[in-house]
Amino acid sequence: MDKHKIKEAARILSFAHFPIALTGAGISEESGIPAFRGEGGLWAKYNPAEYAHINAFLENPKKVWQMLKELDGILRAAKPNPAHKVLALMEAEGLLKGIVTQNVDNLHQAAGSKRVVEFHGNAFCLRCLSCGRAYKKEDMSSEQPLIDLIQDVPRCHCGGLLKPDVVFFGENIPTRALLEAQVLTAACDVMLIIGTSGEVAPANYLPYDAKQHGAKIIEINLEATILTEAVTDIFLQGKASKVLIALEEEIRGMRGKKS
Ligand SMILES: [Zn+2]
Repeated sequence: MDKHKIKEAARILSFAHFPIALTGAGISEESGIPAFRGEGGLWAKYNPAEYAHINAFLENPKKVWQMLKELDGILRAAKPNPAHKVLALMEAEGLLKGIVTQNVDNLHQAAGSKRVVEFHGNAFCLRCLSCGRAYKKEDMSSEQPLIDLIQDVPRCHCGGLLKPDVVFFGENIPTRALLEAQVLTAACDVMLIIGTSGEVAPANYLPYDAKQHGAKIIEINLEATILTEAVTDIFLQGKASKVLIALEEEIRGMRGKKS
């Protein structure tokens, strides 16, 4: 880790008026959630065309729900890691105005972050495809959606099929999340990109939008990405938790010196 770059990033963040973060799967890997893409990822085991496309779900919900149950076990076991906690702390200290996340794992909220835009939804919520009613998974024991014993898929009280409230391939980004992400991006003067390779549209447009209106881009990733060359001002290579802890300590040290 480059100490000089950490200092420069800390300086930029501590003088920023509206810094935001854009996070992806890389920040949750240290919580035990494997990235969907790449070796060992969920998509290596389950072909996304068969399991993660909305048409696949509509054609064979039972098959997709079996994959979703495996994913659910992984998500339930996951706890926020220090990277999530540092971001929550930074928000509490006024060093971060909000987070746009591509993750559906709820770990930013679990760590204490308040303003979180869930670009791809939240896996702990279910929505009825017929009547639109929303269920929280933790409410399911008290207000049990009907389980269709023949199909073995959760159903709404209206009889409609329940789907996790996450964005499947072939589906649009929820309008509200898209608008809020665009508002945060338009307002930001620093964008902290963490654990995302910038390959999934349309979330990957946000760094370019930020860059275009003059925001500084600080990128934290294990390896350089297509964003690094294209938009990044400061690339901090390393694990999200390690880099964020170093960054937060540096900012704390600078503030200590100032007062
Ligand atoms: Zn319903």
